[in-house]
Amino acid sequence: MFTNKEKTIKIIEKSIEKSLVYSNEGEVASYIPELANVNPTDFALSIVYVDGQEYKFGDYNKIFSIQSISKVILLIMALNDNSINEVFEKVDTEPTKYKFNSLIPIDNIAANPFINAGAITISSLIKGKDLNEKFNRTFDKIKKLSNSDKISFLEEIYKSEMDTTDVNRSISYYLRSKKIFSLDAEEVLDLYIRNCSIGINSTDLAHIGALLANGGKDLESGVEIISKDSVRIVLSQMASCGMYEESGRFLLEVGIPSKSGVSGAILGVVPGKCGICVYSPKLDKSGNSVVGKNLLKILSNDLDLNIFV
Ligand code: GLU
Repeated sequence: MFTNKEKTIKIIEKSIEKSLVYSNEGEVASYIPELANVNPTDFALSIVYVDGQEYKFGDYNKIFSIQSISKVILLIMALNDNSINEVFEKVDTEPTKYKFNSLIPIDNIAANPFINAGAITISSLIKGKDLNEKFNRTFDKIKKLSNSDKISFLEEIYKSEMDTTDVNRSISYYLRSKKIFSLDAEEVLDLYIRNCSIGINSTDLAHIGALLANGGKDLESGVEIISKDSVRIVLSQMASCGMYEESGRFLLEVGIPSKSGVSGAILGVVPGKCGICVYSPKLDKSGNSVVGKNLLKILSNDLDLNIFV
């Protein structure tokens, strides 16, 4: 995918330089106490092309918690375990202007799978005989999709969020009260938080992005790992709902289906081309990495990655 490797690398390096101008802006997330303990100046960029070539820069081996990017994998799993109709009669498909952990979009249906209410609902659709089996299935799925043995479970992050997650707990009970699911609200919440606590690095996330960019087919063997329907649904939801309440603006300015997480990672997917993961923990008010969103905007322009033009 590097038609002119040296030239492309120079453009990427220049884009990184331009994006680091924003590194004084934003704040590391602290509503999950353990998230505040990261190094705010960490920075990683990984790009994995559909032909398997990689570009890596900075702290690309650094493990961080996947947070909301796990919502992408949860949606893939739910679509694997249920029909499309079964999923979207529980969760809507629309962007929301409310915060990612707002109770407001829940009426009789959560706004979309990429905010907390939607992802907690999606967690209730994952099949398994008990919580451990359900979690092990999604954990194994992340290992398989990233083709990596470096995926881990970050116990401290999990404990820290479980101890302080009153808002998500409220969402889970509220969803249950609305009969959106009938499972135990604590167990559904637990599965959701466990998934947010998975440890991963930027390159392994970019691998998952490359798989989606490749239509769900393994980059080497061409074997289908994610169904075409799931790829279509996941990417369209990333485009419309993946960047919290800035999703429309981001799509307009950047034109790359992306999913953001409050640990400071953003995963972008350019269909037919590449998966991109930026990690930089300082966030704007919506919860998007400041350097991350700016770097994606610059890369989109400089490498001609906008899916619309
Ligand atoms: N674990 C986080 C929460 O539920 C994830 C939020 C996010 O990354 O958007 O609050």
